[in-house]
Amino acid sequence: MSRDNFDMTTKETLAKRVGFRCSNPNCRKLTSGPQIDSAGSINIGVAAHISAASLGGPRYDSQLTSEERKSIDNGIWLCQNCAKLIDNDSVLYSSDILLEWKHLSEKAALLEIQNNGVINLVDDREIIKFFAQCFDRPAFQDPFDQEGSMENFDKAIEDTITAINTGALRARDGGVLQKSKGKAYLSNPLWRRKMDAIGDLLRALRERYELAVRTNDIHLGSTSDERQFYCINDRQLGAWFDLTRAEILKIFSEICGEAGISSEFQFPRHRRFWRDR
Ligand SMILES: [Zn+2]
Repeated sequence: MSRDNFDMTTKETLAKRVGFRCSNPNCRKLTSGPQIDSAGSINIGVAAHISAASLGGPRYDSQLTSEERKSIDNGIWLCQNCAKLIDNDSVLYSSDILLEWKHLSEKAALLEIQNNGVINLVDDREIIKFFAQCFDRPAFQDPFDQEGSMENFDKAIEDTITAINTGALRARDGGVLQKSKGKAYLSNPLWRRKMDAIGDLLRALRERYELAVRTNDIHLGSTSDERQFYCINDRQLGAWFDLTRAEILKIFSEICGEAGISSEFQFPRHRRFWRDR
């Protein structure tokens, strides 16, 4: 079966247009780095096809010509994990979603390059107020051992990562609750870096949660309504989750304070959370 593969120039341009970062807004992993050999480099990036390179592949579009299929417009730069992810569920990861990822990543790369030190406080404040709404939910306010449902907690963290990266906060049914702009649009480089740090901490929360479920440090039981029975078998783990969220809110409070919107968005709102601990 014939495959419409990208040529080397197309692959390289796709990578360069997103600063060699994975285009999945929930990932944004760097895909290149140095080998020990000073002449070599490591590449964990893939020029993935939006519409499959051959018949029967994910999102295959028979309307495309062979030229269109191997053109740069049909490519997206991803890390190896995300390239595999999008091909495992071509319904969830539709062509439209992938084109949105590509657009956002290119925009983010351009903003990073263009940033010329001009700070637009008015626009930055709007973005920060949007982020504040994302943190104003139980997943960031309740102590870990009082969470109603672990799976909802994990989903809320995932939604927050997406919201910070894309400016779209999704409801549980997948609908978009509010549309703002992602952290790449912050003109203040310090706030952008702080939001990057928050993004890293959020990802660490999700990774630790997934690992804990796999190793049974968190045992998930049955679910009824919004409640889910679960058991945390590692006390230190619960404390780490609480501390990490407190750290996230602390960094975010700093941004709010520096942006002069601390009176509106003071974290944490639930003082009980801090006094008891
Ligand atoms: Zn990735």
